[in-house]
Amino acid sequence: MTTKLIHHPYRPPAGFDAPQVGVYKASTVLFPDVAAMRARDWRHRSGYTYGLHGTPTTFTLEERIATLEGGTHCVLVPSGLAAIALVNMALLKAGDELLLPDNVYGPSRELARRELAAWGITHKLYDPMDLASLAAAIGPATKLVWLEAPGSVTMEFPDLPALVAVCRERGVTTALDNTWGAGLAFCGFDLGIDVVMQALTKYPSGGGDVLMGSVVTRDAELADRIHMTHGRLGQGVGANDAEAMLRSLPSLSLRYHAADAAGRELAAWCATRSEFRRVLHPALPGAPGHEHWKSTCRAAAGLFSVVVDPRFSGAQVDRFVDALQLFGIGFSWAGPMSLVVPYDMKQMRAKPAYDGTVVRFSIGLEEVADLKADLEQALAALAG
Ligand SMILES: *Cc1c(COP(=O)(O)O)cnc(C)c1O
Repeated sequence: MTTKLIHHPYRPPAGFDAPQVGVYKASTVLFPDVAAMRARDWRHRSGYTYGLHGTPTTFTLEERIATLEGGTHCVLVPSGLAAIALVNMALLKAGDELLLPDNVYGPSRELARRELAAWGITHKLYDPMDLASLAAAIGPATKLVWLEAPGSVTMEFPDLPALVAVCRERGVTTALDNTWGAGLAFCGFDLGIDVVMQALTKYPSGGGDVLMGSVVTRDAELADRIHMTHGRLGQGVGANDAEAMLRSLPSLSLRYHAADAAGRELAAWCATRSEFRRVLHPALPGAPGHEHWKSTCRAAAGLFSVVVDPRFSGAQVDRFVDALQLFGIGFSWAGPMSLVVPYDMKQMRAKPAYDGTVVRFSIGLEEVADLKADLEQALAALAG
């Protein structure tokens, strides 16, 4: 019986079609004969060779993410951080140097400090708000410059076209962490950036339940290097996660713009409160890099930070965060639930730009009036 069940002759009729692609799950795929097996080439995605190298489900998601970013080639990895690691591993070797903005996503810097350093790849930090700082940091060994817009937690929006121009003049490859822009706020490739990664974990998923990353290029040679390294590292994503992502993509733009509108309204409200010394939201006039945001972006994510007035202690800020009822205390962002994290700037940056605690809010899909009321009641706990 077992043999009969495994080698069952039934084949469903061909030609099934539905609005969404099927969930193809396979650790391996079958070839009609040895000649077909020998002829199959995983490099060009013209067929199927092995589960890790792609299925109709993952190929479809790759094509849609490439379109979202305005690129042509995409590979998928199990997290946003894995996408950052893949770019570094595909494009750098011992003796090379990479440059990171000083407000880079924290774990990206930790990877440079630990593994990349151990493999003989050095790194330097540059100030993304100062073109001269990038120009001075680029040396003969510099092979890759990471860009992030806006910066992590402190939300400075850099002059991306000018930073890219500095790199291009010197023939240095650029890679963008486009998680905040989500492929909707601006197109990295139109600004001349070579490689664009995104934590699909955030807006493309939007559910707070799936981890995934993407690396997209518009250049066939770069795409090939990244694709080959991806294959050799054994990176891939599960079919159920790919399906969840495919299901979320059609509502990506609606969710992004809803979070943007809510985020701007709450950021503007926070700017009226004396408890906050500054509101760091790139779409807010007066915020660091606002002019660059305005000239580069069509939209903003639902993400902003506040600098709490230094008259309040760290313990008081913790009480404020604990008093919030609708904001979950958690890292990550872009899910349906609003989230909050307090950051001690002195532990985060070599040169902290602000005194006092910075609190980062990710605005979810709750009603804005409810979130405002929650912030208001929690602010009473801050003063108390
Ligand atoms: C979350 C995030 C990442 C990492 O994504 P994971 O899927 O959580 O590994 C990378 N960059 C930025 C800017 C992020 O916000």
